[in-house]
Amino acid sequence: MRILVTGGAGFIGSALVRYLVGEVGADVLNLDKLTYAGNLESLAPIAGANNYQFVQGDICDGPKLSQVIAGFRPDHIMHLAAESHVDRSITGAKDFIETNVMGTFVLLEAARHYWSGLKGEAKADFRFLHVSTDEVYGSLGESGLFGETTPYDPSSPYAASKAAADHLAKAWHRTYGLPVLVSNCSNNYGPYHFPEKLIPLSIINAMEGQPLPVYGDGSNIRDWLHVEDHARALHLICAKGRLGETYNVGGRNERRNIDVVRRICALMDRLRPQSSPHDRLITFVTDRPGHDRRYAIDAAKLETELGWQAQETFDTGIEKTVRWYLDNEAWWRPLRGEVYAGERLGIVKA
Ligand code: NAD
Repeated sequence: MRILVTGGAGFIGSALVRYLVGEVGADVLNLDKLTYAGNLESLAPIAGANNYQFVQGDICDGPKLSQVIAGFRPDHIMHLAAESHVDRSITGAKDFIETNVMGTFVLLEAARHYWSGLKGEAKADFRFLHVSTDEVYGSLGESGLFGETTPYDPSSPYAASKAAADHLAKAWHRTYGLPVLVSNCSNNYGPYHFPEKLIPLSIINAMEGQPLPVYGDGSNIRDWLHVEDHARALHLICAKGRLGETYNVGGRNERRNIDVVRRICALMDRLRPQSSPHDRLITFVTDRPGHDRRYAIDAAKLETELGWQAQETFDTGIEKTVRWYLDNEAWWRPLRGEVYAGERLGIVKA
């Protein structure tokens, strides 16, 4: 099985590549532009494997995509390359439209051209998995869950760009017959997560005795999934999902942001008692514009149809994650020093 992964140097992409190369035994080509969010150090555990190769490339570059696809001849394409940080999309949406919308279009066209030239089993077995987010559904109230048929209602430029890309992927299936699947996942956490996102930022700031910024009153709710559970789900959806279908992925782990940060503080109190109590560092800051109240995923279709189950609870996953950041300063320290120092992003000036 030859799998082309786009965005494989990112947080989720690298977890997927480590899983496909290290555990599934697939031949993987990772195509990644290496933006600020791409980091080849996240692939160090499998970088020397003979079933892994890396190509630096932009998904907006059609000729390059065609050349890479023709040379590698993938059985599956798993598309994760994206601009992914909501706050950065508020500050400037251009890169989000270019990569998430135009890049997905260019990749779909390159995939369609390649797939239409395949014959027999190779053509029948080809798959294109478009990886997306639950943020396309907008915000939930106090109750209810996002299902696969929940109407799209994106709030941020990031979510809107992903929604556009999801529609393109679905249209390429309906119009051209390209064997497309779409997955929409809740918030991920785990190792190798770029330290601009809530969980790694809070862990690293707690380690350094810096303020732990919490947006608004901290009561916004996210549904957390360990990134390695997501990687397993993506492989399953691509291999066994029904063509043209959407699969929601989530761990049934709803938490208020403030409770996530308090949990990290409690773990830090246990693992680094000398700087306790860490919750004295919690600082409420101006809310994110357009901040969705609540996300929660109904993953029943993935669970019943494809037999997927999350292996980590939030409690097991968050403890492993805090320990990972404590043990892997060599991974995050250069990012903190040279790429992103923890400053506030995504404030709209009056
Ligand atoms: P990330 O920002 O950590 O990584 C994105 C990767 O894409 C980086 O390696 C970057 O270099 C690469 N990239 C960006 N623009 C590119 C381009 N034009 N061409 C080629 N490569 C490019 O993102 P992530 O958190 O790993 O998310 C991966 C995918 O999963 C995204 O599509 C995202 O929308 C989706 N998703 C993320 C979450 C989450 O909680 N992080 C949840 C659900 C879905």
